[in-house]
Amino acid sequence: MKTVVVCGAGGFIGHHLVRRLKAEGCWVRGVDIKRPEFSKSAADEFRLLDLREPKNCAKAVTLVNGQVVDEVYQLAADMGGMGFIHAAECEIMHNSMLINVHMTHAAATLGVKRYFFSSSACVYRNMQIGEPEMDESGAYPAMPDNEYGWEKLYSERMAMAYGRKYGMTVRIARFQNCYGPEGTWRGGREKAPAAICRKVACAPDGGEIEIWGDGTAVRSYTYIDDMIDGIVLLMKSDLEGPVNIGCPQYVSVRELVQTVADVAGKRVTIRSVPGPVGVMSRNFSNARIESIGWRSRFDLRSGIERTYPWVLEQCRKAGLVRN
Ligand code: NAD
Repeated sequence: MKTVVVCGAGGFIGHHLVRRLKAEGCWVRGVDIKRPEFSKSAADEFRLLDLREPKNCAKAVTLVNGQVVDEVYQLAADMGGMGFIHAAECEIMHNSMLINVHMTHAAATLGVKRYFFSSSACVYRNMQIGEPEMDESGAYPAMPDNEYGWEKLYSERMAMAYGRKYGMTVRIARFQNCYGPEGTWRGGREKAPAAICRKVACAPDGGEIEIWGDGTAVRSYTYIDDMIDGIVLLMKSDLEGPVNIGCPQYVSVRELVQTVADVAGKRVTIRSVPGPVGVMSRNFSNARIESIGWRSRFDLRSGIERTYPWVLEQCRKAGLVRN
């Protein structure tokens, strides 16, 4: 039986990934500084470890018999939506860098054979609306829009360097925005889809919701099941170097709001307020991940149809919505 560790298993993508790897028949250890918030982890073993500490990274990859796990999926990060990325630059650079420095080193030097690293579309520069598709090589010359992107870029390079030196197979995915049930939906770390689902859920029919900026910025939003498919396929593949994974449907923030409102069956108007908007546009090629058979199965509407009811339920439980 394949033995794997998922770092960040208490978080959104890691929690879903644990479920998938279990369903595929792996023995799974989940590691995080916290347990999953919304449902019990499917992991065979869940260990609370702070991966900023080198000794904890070694513990994370070592089995009770002293051998190391077959595969590491590194998704632990100090992470959030655009508001958090701008407000917590130092925390992101400090904490996520320590996690990646020590985790990559521990995995490679202790003899792990396969290592997955979760990078981000934030490694790319700002794009203008209508620019042609950019492939993975477009990350260089490097000019990420924020410090989170710089940290990811450095960690990608470190993982590849350790892979070369120690013979560890490294797979790197650059995720677009990912959303779905059991993602952070409030508290300041939530991303746009969850935040907009919450705002629409809390607004009366005909009400107004606030968004940062004028809502013309363009993004791709990837439903969690598609992202998990991509991670699992990529890890089994022979694709070297970073690989984009993202829904090929690009929409403005206004279109995102409209989609959520349609799914909720509400009319809402938008009020633009100043805030950290991030880059103007994204338009990335999925040719590499598609070359190994990945296809996005969920467009924005079908992903929101699965996500909005869950956010609505959370709002009800929290007393933010009455009926
Ligand atoms: P998340 O915040 O839900 O999960 C990250 C997990 O890492 C959290 O549970 C957190 O507790 C854990 N963590 C933080 N510090 C830790 C530490 N010191 N030791 C151990 N665990 C620690 O985020 P997510 O959305 O599941 O993202 C997973 C990965 O994917 C991250 O690396 C993130 O940067 C990347 N990513 C996510 C998105 C997205 O849209 N969700 C987009 C691009 C990249």
